[in-house]
Amino acid sequence: MATMRLQSAVLVRIKFSDGSEGIGEGTTIGGLTYGPESPESIQSAIDTYITPSLIGRSADDVNGALQLMDKLVRGNRIAKTAVEIALWDGLGKRLGMPVSQLFGGAVVTKMPVAWTLASGNSETDIAEALEMVETRRHNIFKLKIGKRDVRDDVAHVARIKEALGDTASIRVDINQAWSLEEARWGLKGLQDVGCELVEQPIEARYLDGMAELTSSYEIAVMADEALNGPQDALTVAAHHAADVFAVKIAQSGGLKRASEVIAIGQAAGIGLYAGTMLETGLSTAAALQLFSTVEKLHWGTELFGPLLLTDEILANPIVYNDFCVEVPQGPGIGATLDTDKIEFYRRDGARSLNAAAGE
Ligand SMILES: [Mg+2]
Repeated sequence: MATMRLQSAVLVRIKFSDGSEGIGEGTTIGGLTYGPESPESIQSAIDTYITPSLIGRSADDVNGALQLMDKLVRGNRIAKTAVEIALWDGLGKRLGMPVSQLFGGAVVTKMPVAWTLASGNSETDIAEALEMVETRRHNIFKLKIGKRDVRDDVAHVARIKEALGDTASIRVDINQAWSLEEARWGLKGLQDVGCELVEQPIEARYLDGMAELTSSYEIAVMADEALNGPQDALTVAAHHAADVFAVKIAQSGGLKRASEVIAIGQAAGIGLYAGTMLETGLSTAAALQLFSTVEKLHWGTELFGPLLLTDEILANPIVYNDFCVEVPQGPGIGATLDTDKIEFYRRDGARSLNAAAGE
């Protein structure tokens, strides 16, 4: 889909009249190649439309702010998410409790975390996966496929599954690349080689095709791009167009809307998986707060965004060990920014100035 050499995160800081603050993040995978929002559009939606509407409102009224944002701004879910996270974070800090408590309380302290293998080279991916299993960092792997001929992709998955055996769970993400015909061959081949789950095999809008694939094969079919908030979740559930929901807080439109997607999935008997938009530790912390309150996260998480970045922007980085990601402790979302790093990495910061000067 896209090769990412840098990631742009839009960070939000809301200052409240009692001196408290809340922080949030809006980040998208690969900008406009993935979805309708870009870092620039997120910033513009917040600065131009959302911020003026929220100034002067009661900071504790998160639901009221959400309803106002939904009324004044259509779509732009990632922009709304960034602001909403900062509102929850501020509320949690003022109350001295984690955001998970505001959603009824965490039922777990850590969750399984998958890793993505996307080199496309079987030997490279096998070596990387074996190292991850050896160091006990990951034993769930999601392969990004769909660019090559279906048979070649299935053979690639088969080689990796054979090398790892039962020590790891192998899943694939097609990112909508297959036609329905390709997907039929693909799903048949994938389940025969021991792949457990296929994510968004065909275009999100082909609900009938997704329903056919869901009912025709044993391999679990997961909806990702098809899920943009609770209304989509209801549509997908009603069409039996997925076995599993990849719930992403940003794609859902925030923590509250993601909790509604989760509720619809639970009510429909659909499996749940915590997805990522490749956010930094900040938004990952926010996601962990919500997902820690979910009774059963059947397929675990892929909340590994911070591990893909070459540097850390949190003063208290997200902790990964023993195949799991830990839920951050402390009030709010449990994340504190490293202000020096923010100054360095911001677009008008030292990193950009050094690059412009050829250093
Ligand atoms: Mg996906």
